[in-house]
Amino acid sequence: MSRVIVVGAGINGVTAAIELKKRGHRVILIDPGPLPHPLAASTDISKAVRAAYGEDEDYTALAERSIKLWRDWNQEFGIELYHEVGVMFVRRQEMKPGDFEYESFKILEQREHKIVRMNSAQLWKRFPAWNPDLYRDGILEFESGYVESGRVVAILSERAKSVGIELHEDVRFSQLDEGDDRVKGIVVEDGKRIPGDLVVMAVGAWTPYVLPFTRKFFRATGQPVFHLRPSQPEPFAPECFPVFGADISTTGYYGFPLNREGVVKIANHGLGREMSPESPNRAVTLQEEENLREFLSATFPALADAPLVYSRVCMYCDTNDGHFWIAPDPERHGLIVAAGDSGHGFKFAPVLGEIIADAVEGKANLLLQRFRWRPEIRSGEQKEAARFNPD
Ligand SMILES: Cc1cc2nc3c(=O)[nH]c(=O)nc-3n(C[C@H](O)[C@H](O)[C@H](O)COP(=O)(O)OP(=O)(O)OC[C@H]3O[C@@H](n4cnc5c(N)ncnc54)[C@H](O)[C@@H]3O)c2cc1C
Repeated sequence: MSRVIVVGAGINGVTAAIELKKRGHRVILIDPGPLPHPLAASTDISKAVRAAYGEDEDYTALAERSIKLWRDWNQEFGIELYHEVGVMFVRRQEMKPGDFEYESFKILEQREHKIVRMNSAQLWKRFPAWNPDLYRDGILEFESGYVESGRVVAILSERAKSVGIELHEDVRFSQLDEGDDRVKGIVVEDGKRIPGDLVVMAVGAWTPYVLPFTRKFFRATGQPVFHLRPSQPEPFAPECFPVFGADISTTGYYGFPLNREGVVKIANHGLGREMSPESPNRAVTLQEEENLREFLSATFPALADAPLVYSRVCMYCDTNDGHFWIAPDPERHGLIVAAGDSGHGFKFAPVLGEIIADAVEGKANLLLQRFRWRPEIRSGEQKEAARFNPD
């Protein structure tokens, strides 16, 4: 049994802490709080859960497992955290080989998912919010949807406490406590040392700022998120307005159906603005709002003037190839970094703890080869992979 300090109680940290505790370790989880932390990427009303991942079958398979487990979590927690409302990725033009949508369609068809190709005018009639003249083709996957991500973190934080994890919601990591050729714990903001055999850094977009040596391979980027309240809610109900990506590889726009509070969330996935998560400028810009309005007028006319009830800049922790980074630091024995979700990691919450705990324990896991420590992948390499991994 090891004494493991997990830094950061977003979805990576909280799931890792629970799994490590389950495996018999003594676990200390720290976060400046309150939880879910208002600036954390995990904290929002929704995150998309989909199996469409272009031609990347590893992620599709991982999403399939996650979706089954999301259904189990709904049962286990007795709350509908995962809403299986379907996800559609649609295009203005016909899908063709090489497109995110086409390749997803092919893989999901091979893997016998319940899907339909969105290329008939008849079918589009079922989705009245959409401008029928603009979008012509795409894919609708039925066994997918969204999760209430902030609520998930809140519930898992409670679970963490109930299983005996020492959760400190008012403690900020300051630096690693290093010595004798290894990491022997952490130093927190007030200068206090917390000893540990192993330290898991799960601080998302804060990683390149609190561990400056990771700046070569992590980039924190801000992406705009908007919550709108339509005056006519009916066309945005989940039955006729699934989670969507609207020509996402070119426009970046994706969104979610009306939630319990009558809010439709629309966000943009792109290269984003590089900034610290603590930046005082974490507000959407006028330009970003204008771009949104332009997109809405063309795509969802009934939403074009809907009042904005909330907006935020949500932070991705981007890697150079768009994949997770869940790996021990070869130069700092005892340190494991679990970050680098590049904006698409939440859906894997039910399997993340297991993957991170395997990295902590040095257990074999095929995915850890992919998510390994890989400073050799330089900035700009496989940029497209990251761009084509919409949320
Ligand atoms: C706009 C946007 C949309 C997204 N949409 C989707 C989606 O639709 N589907 C999907 O699957 N994924 C999506 N993602 C990705 C998903 O949100 C992330 O993969 C996930 O939330 C990352 O979790 P995390 O635990 O790594 O980081 P975070 O949730 O950011 O948590 C990091 C935690 O570290 C803590 N921390 C920071 N500094 C310190 C410190 N010094 N000491 C201690 N603790 C500290 C913070 O308080 C925070 O609680 C989206 C992300 C963004 C930004």
